Formats: sequence, structure tokens, C-alpha cells
Amino acid sequence: MDFWFPYDEKRQYQNDIILKTLECLKSRKGLIFSAPTGIGKTISVLAPALQFAYQNNLKVLFLTNRINQQVLPLKEFKKIKDKFCTEPLYAGRIISKKDLCPRDEAKVKDLEGFYSYCTKLKQENECKFYKGLKQKLREEDKDIFKQLLRDNPTQFLNVLALQPNGLCTHSLIKQFLIDYANLVVLDYNYLLNPFIRKDFFGRTGIDLNKCIVVFDESHNLPEKTREVASRVLSSATITSVIREIDNYEDQYIDEKMDEGGDRDSLEEELSFVQDFLRKFHDDVWLILSKKADKEKEFGIPFRPREIIKTSSFEKDVDLVVDVLDDMAEVVEKTKKSRCSAISGFLEKVLETLNDEENFVKFINVIKREKREYFSINIKCMDSSYVFTPILKDSYCVICFSGTIEPTYFKKMLGFPEDTLTMSFPSPFSSDQRRYIIYPNAYADFTLKHRRENIEEKCSDLVDFINSMKGNILVVFPSEDVFKIYVPLIEGRIKKNVFKQPMNEEFITSREFRKEGHRVLKDFQTSKNGVLFTAAFGSYAEGVDYIHVLQNTIVVGFPFPKVNYERDRLTEYFNNKFEGSGSFLTYVLPGIQKSIQAAGRVIRDLKDKGTIIFYGKQFGKGDWRYRRYFTILSQEIKDEAIYTSEREEVIEAIKHFWRE
Ligand code: SF4
Repeated sequence: MDFWFPYDEKRQYQNDIILKTLECLKSRKGLIFSAPTGIGKTISVLAPALQFAYQNNLKVLFLTNRINQQVLPLKEFKKIKDKFCTEPLYAGRIISKKDLCPRDEAKVKDLEGFYSYCTKLKQENECKFYKGLKQKLREEDKDIFKQLLRDNPTQFLNVLALQPNGLCTHSLIKQFLIDYANLVVLDYNYLLNPFIRKDFFGRTGIDLNKCIVVFDESHNLPEKTREVASRVLSSATITSVIREIDNYEDQYIDEKMDEGGDRDSLEEELSFVQDFLRKFHDDVWLILSKKADKEKEFGIPFRPREIIKTSSFEKDVDLVVDVLDDMAEVVEKTKKSRCSAISGFLEKVLETLNDEENFVKFINVIKREKREYFSINIKCMDSSYVFTPILKDSYCVICFSGTIEPTYFKKMLGFPEDTLTMSFPSPFSSDQRRYIIYPNAYADFTLKHRRENIEEKCSDLVDFINSMKGNILVVFPSEDVFKIYVPLIEGRIKKNVFKQPMNEEFITSREFRKEGHRVLKDFQTSKNGVLFTAAFGSYAEGVDYIHVLQNTIVVGFPFPKVNYERDRLTEYFNNKFEGSGSFLTYVLPGIQKSIQAAGRVIRDLKDKGTIIFYGKQFGKGDWRYRRYFTILSQEIKDEAIYTSEREEVIEAIKHFWRE
């Protein structure tokens, strides 16, 4: 049976994925699998899931980490529908409510501020775009939208978002998706962010219990889930809010007096909030001033009650939150406000006051453009804190990616023990690629050793690069290592050199992004170029270099930076996962980054190329790194040429390109 599989032939392993997906749907156990690019993961999950959903009156929710990944599942849907369905089947996608909102105020609000603002407007029946939505919608438009969901789902969102019909576009799209769609494609945030989830899946939204939830590219989930439950507040935000209160005091008091407030108590309230913020700001600096530079940069514990020393802690913080939320509304009538950034942070302080288990709280100092700022962090340690409610509320959850390690992923996200897991090798021929592991003893780019044997390391890199044919991506483990080595080797390279722009070289983030796109485009149109980038940067992951990238060199092991947060995360994982703390905090993310970078070369049957892992941590000889080697993918372990001789690496590269 073909489970609505729309292609004439199946690629290797697609049948296994289809059968496992069906087993997961029938048993309602979750499914986690790892499969490299090229297997056809999306259609292998979507085909059985859509058929099962249709037969059992469920919906399929397909969640992506980037908007540009939303079109593929809709195109696959269309193939399924055209081939198998006599009954109408519908699909559509939705982007952020804030981006779809036609009100000017939406643009200046932060995410949470916008959601509370929208909820309030709807409750008070004050939004003209939302009011009487259903009555205003013309019958002929309804038919057109429904037809789009059926025949042209990729265009559905564009057509509605561009309709100058004076209606709330988000509510309109949401309603059509609730009423008709068998498949809904949407951003991760719709499920991970508690505000957005409540709005979309709440009382008037989609019933999550009747949804098969599919997470694409799910190696991002552990980080993303922690991020949405975390909060950061900087000293710059506090000083800018103190200024905002000065500048908008009169408007605030006038508005509040119109609502019945009296001037004296309003003035008193505002000065209480300003004093609170000033004291908070100064006390944090005072604590930091007693610490050494290294300690400040690394991070020191943040204990709210030791800084906010008031006898009525909760009451005072509550009052500040209320005033700042009201002030945000006043300011946002003319410009973007920072008030809700502080009120959101203080709410998180209250929420996590007694939770030392799931959250790490710390202060650190950041230097930017020769100035120092402090940043107060409340970071979530536990991905399952956010993910467990999703697992509990959904019909079932399926996660896949090219670079997850299912056993650890299952534990970190809080999947039940009996969750189904699988891993697949690459479907491409080994003739298309040559893996080389070069774990030379001096090939160490960690903080302690990065400046040792510089000449040998530079010569290795120059010789490897100059022996390669076509374009090359060179991925350094961090921006710091990039800055040491790129200036030393770029003049010795016989290829066109492209470099990832580094932040401080640009004044605005817009210019920085523009420059980043330009460099990438120029490299992609080059035939004989080398692009230097850093892991944890934008070029080593998520960029599709189909037919334009022939080689990758992963330089050094990309350990995430050691800081207070990661130290605590290590402790947390040690307690929760029996001593696997540093492995989960530093090694697993480093391996995932390396495999992501390596995976840029072979994207389809026509691609061909060499991939070098240059670093002692990739070696299997040293007992300290044996565990690193074991979690490289099976195909790398089976196929790699393993040598510590520079000449052998060069010969292997030349031989591959001669063949
Ligand atoms: S109801 Fe719609 S139009 Fe009104 S604020 Fe909310 S998103 Fe915007």
C-alpha cells in the first residue's frame, strides 16, 4: 500500500520512513528520526500522515524553523491531492500575526506587548479590522479563498495578506485554516511560544489534541525551546526606559487623568518606578564593580532579592510592571517603547523566583564599541519545560532532521521512553564524496592552543585549499580563530577569497545583513572561490549551495563558548542525564555544527566533493576524544581517509579530483 505517496518510485529508505510514521500514528507514540539530505524526508512523513489525518478527522501541523522552508510541504501536498484525492483536500500556511497586522502600532511593539494589545482590542471590540469580520466577508471572497486552499495553497497566504479589504488578515487566515485545512504549515513559534500558542490553539483556535505535529529541521528544537522560556535585560534598556518616562510623563498623566486618576498619585507612581529602576541599575553596577574583569565577562549569579531590597518585593515589582505596561501603550502611539522589555523581564523574575532547578540566573558584562553594558540573564535549562505540554496536548509528535542524535534528543525534549527512533545513512553514492579526517596532534584550535604552531596550521590550510578544485567553504570554530588565521593565509591562496563580514565592521544590522547577502551571492556565482566563515555563523548551516560548493574544510572542533550559562547547563545535564553534562553542552552541539557544515557539499545526485575534518578532536586515537568520533555519522566513520600526514591529505584530494 502506498499511503498517498505521489511519486512513481521511492528512493532508498523512504519506505522505512513511511512504515515507521504509520506505526507512530497508529500507536500515538512519538517518532524521532535522523536522515541526511536527499532521502526525501518531508514527503515520506507527509504522505502517510495526511492520509491518516484525513481518515481520522485530524489535521497535520507542519512546523518549520524558517519561512523559506514553508513552500516545500505545500508543493508536496498538491502532488498528493492531485494524484489521490477525489474529495476536496485543503492546505495553507500562516506567518506571524504581528507581521500580518495592518495596524501601524503593531510595528513598534515587541512580540508580547503586541499580543496583549491585540487581545485587549478584541475583548473591548475596539479593533476596526476585527469587528464584524464574519459579516464583512463577501460570499464570493469566501469561495475564492477556499478554492486557493484547495488548488493553490502556496498562494493562499500571499493573496489574503495583500487583500486591501480592511479586515484582520491573521484572523481571516486562521479561520479558514481552522474550518477547512487538512494541512497547516507554520513557524515553530506557533507552538513553542506560550503567548502565540494560547492565541492560536486556545479556546477559539485549532484543537491541538486533534493534530499530528511534525517538526522539520528539529535539531534546532533544544536551543529554541530554551530560548523562548528565557529572558535577558540589558543596562542600556534600563537607562532608555528611565529617559522614556521623563519624556512621556505629561502624556501618561493626561491620559490617566482622563480615566479618573489624580495628578499627585500618578506623579508619585512614576517617580517610584524611576527610583526603582535607577536603584536596580546602580546596585547591579555596584556588585559588578567588586569583581575582576574576567569574572564579570564570564558571569556572576543574579539573586533578585539581594538586588531589589524592598520589604514588599512582589508587590513593588507588580506595581512597576503595571506602570511600565501602561507607559508602553502611551509611548507606542508615537514610537517604539522599551518599557515592555523591562516589564516582561520583571514578570519572569517573579515567575522563576523560587525555581533554581530549571533556570540559571546570572549577570555578565559585555563590551561594545569600547563601552561596557551589563546584561541580566534568566535562562531556561530544560527544553522539556517548554516541550512537555506540546507532547501532552498533541495527537502525536514527529521530529526529523539530518543531524539529530535520536537517543539524546529524546531525553532532552522529554519524549516518553517508548518513543520510536531511527537513523538513516546518506542515499548518495560514496563515489560522490571523499571524507578526510586529519587529526594532527597540533591541530588544536581551542583557547589554550589556538596560537600554537600557527605556521604549520596555516601551511596545512593553504596547501589543502590550493589542491582543491572548485569552490571551498572553510569553517573556523569561532570568530576569534577566524580573525587569527584568515589574515595570515588569504594572501597565499590561489583562489578568489570571500569572507564572512564580522559584526563590528558595520554600523547598522541592516548594512551588516546586506553585506552578508552580497558576499554569499558573489561566492555562489564564483567558480573558483574560497569562503571563510565561522561555525555558529550564518554560512555553515541552512544555506543551500546546490551545485556551487565542491569542498568544505571544518577547521577545529566548534565547541560552544564556555561561560556561566554553559557551566550551569553542564551541571544541570550531569544531574539529569547521569554525568553526560559536558558531552551534551559542548560536544554534541559541536558535532552537530561540524556535520551541518560538512553536509553543505553533497545536496543531490549531481554534486561531488571533498570534506576535511581538520582537528585533533576528530581523531579516534586519543582516549579523550574517542566518544566524539563515535557520534560522527556512520558513513563518515566508514568512508573517511584517516591520516595525520599533510602530504597524504593533499594526495587524497588530488586523487579524488583526478578521478
Ligand atoms: S485583531 Fe487583527 S487587526 Fe486587530 S490588532 Fe489584532 S491582529 Fe491586528
